[in-house]
Amino acid sequence: MKNIIIFGAPGSGKGTYSAEIAERYGMGHISTGDVLRAEIKNETELGKIAKGYIDQGQLIPDELMIDILAKTYDAQPQGSGVIFDGFPRTIAQAEALKQMLAQRGHELGMMIELIVSEEVLMARLLRRAQIEGRADDNEETIRKRFAVYHSQTEPLSKWFAAEGIRHTFDWSICKTKEGMLEAIFQEIERQNK
Ligand code: AMP
Repeated sequence: MKNIIIFGAPGSGKGTYSAEIAERYGMGHISTGDVLRAEIKNETELGKIAKGYIDQGQLIPDELMIDILAKTYDAQPQGSGVIFDGFPRTIAQAEALKQMLAQRGHELGMMIELIVSEEVLMARLLRRAQIEGRADDNEETIRKRFAVYHSQTEPLSKWFAAEGIRHTFDWSICKTKEGMLEAIFQEIERQNK
């Protein structure tokens, strides 16, 4: 399977769809948010650094994040393709990912962009706050994460389009999780023919 980069704003469903895709196609799944939360839970040095940024709704510096990603990628079983969930979030990270994969004889594959209105995103994240109790799912931090997304991450959408690998899926058109999944699965299968 081709590697997949799953891309979208906080609350757009990256984790949910990544898990479904990974299960269906037997792919690896790297969620940088999950990697960082595990480091925080285990009270590692990296976790201590990451916590400061995450609680403020800010991004972890590129250099550190690129290093974490490369280590996590190399620890994955190779061959069945990997889903990158929450990485890259900046142009520098995207360039580094492309280079890291090329050095290993691998490719970016395809990018899946989840398009969801801010109103729906906010409602979902506030609901998730009640269920999962994530420290960064409060209204103030969510607003900061949206601002960071617009200024640092969203411009990447065009970067992927220029690479010729962007595929967009719009919640307002698909309307349900099942509808989104069906459209995403179809495109993945088309790309892997
Ligand atoms: P997520 O679970 O993907 O929403 O990530 C939660 C938080 O972890 C983000 O708000 C960032 O603070 C941090 N984070 C996760 N992935 C990255 C990344 N690729 N670059 C920088 N920070 C990240």
